[in-house]
Amino acid sequence: MTVSTATIPSVTKGRILVIGATGFMGQFVTKASLALEHPTYLLLRPGHITPSKALLVKSFQDKGARLIHGMVNDKDQMEKILKENEIEVVISLVGGGNLLDQITLIEAMKSVKTIKRFLPSEFGHDVDRADPVEPGLTMYKEKRVIRRMVEESGIPFTNICCNSIASWPYHNNCHPSKLPPPMDQFQIYGDGNIKAYFVDGNDIGRLTMKAVNDVRTLNKNIHFRPSVNCYSINELASLWEKKIGRTIPRVTVSEDDLLAAAAENCIPESIVASFTHDIFINGCQVNFSTNGPNDVEIGTLYPDEKFRCLEDCFEDFVPMIRDKILGGPDENEIAKTNDKSLLEAVPIT
Ligand code: NDP
Repeated sequence: MTVSTATIPSVTKGRILVIGATGFMGQFVTKASLALEHPTYLLLRPGHITPSKALLVKSFQDKGARLIHGMVNDKDQMEKILKENEIEVVISLVGGGNLLDQITLIEAMKSVKTIKRFLPSEFGHDVDRADPVEPGLTMYKEKRVIRRMVEESGIPFTNICCNSIASWPYHNNCHPSKLPPPMDQFQIYGDGNIKAYFVDGNDIGRLTMKAVNDVRTLNKNIHFRPSVNCYSINELASLWEKKIGRTIPRVTVSEDDLLAAAAENCIPESIVASFTHDIFINGCQVNFSTNGPNDVEIGTLYPDEKFRCLEDCFEDFVPMIRDKILGGPDENEIAKTNDKSLLEAVPIT
């Protein structure tokens, strides 16, 4: 079912429910929602929470977030939550292992009939166009299932296709922006010349929150393609070398190497390897035009909005590697990079 634009009231400072606020991408969206002073509700899974997540939740609470405990895959509970809190916008950022939990959420939203906009857990590639090998393909098939269900449901939606997070694209780490780029050796995928888009997490959050209010993003795929941040991996390597003032050896990771890493089926690393293959060998971020009837480029919507350039984003990593360059960490600088603490610089499943 398609929803006519004329029948959809615009959302102005509507009540927003963020699902997955404690996650890697969810933090950026939650931060932006609170900064824009939306009444922001966070759905938290009941039970144990790590100390770092507890601190994060506390910081959101201090900025006005309201906490709700519940599971996205409990239909009755979700219906109650949506109704009682008069939620208008639902933004889901559940992780790769929980994508199908959104089926129950869609059913709950269908029942309450009051949701003005749903943003499913996309926040990556356009999954109808990208074509990764397994095991990444299974994840995209699940995202496609959710897309089709949402389209069928008639719930107004927006799919955020924000491409890659600004960082070194490690082929075995789902949250690469938690790690600095390499200091010992660059692994260059294929010939290293295929381009991709790298977007700062805070820009993803801020522009996502602009899009939820915008009638032009209704039932559309929103593509993040900032021309200033379109880099090949060879160019990324040179940028980092310039930033740290030293050259680093480069080794080639061939298409076959990436396919072999994907075929190992070690989760989640192999999923990332299959996406890395799709990005840097197939060119999945740049090999299609966004002129389709359901596509909108974020830069066209908001031409005055500036993206943080990759050179600045890479600056954030410098405190993390200062010890390697100077022989000792700069504690003050490390303390400043709260989001990228070295303590958290581990692959996260
Ligand atoms: P994470 O695994 O970091 O976080 C998932 C969040 O969802 C957590 O807050 C988790 O809660 C919550 N959650 C999971 N299941 C449920 C449930 N049943 N009920 C309530 N809450 C739940 O996810 P990511 O941030 O890595 O992924 C989010 C989206 O972003 C995905 O679609 C992913 O593909 C995409 N992504 C894009 C990247 C890019 O570079 N463009 C990089 C990484 C992800 P809890 O704290 O309890 O675990």
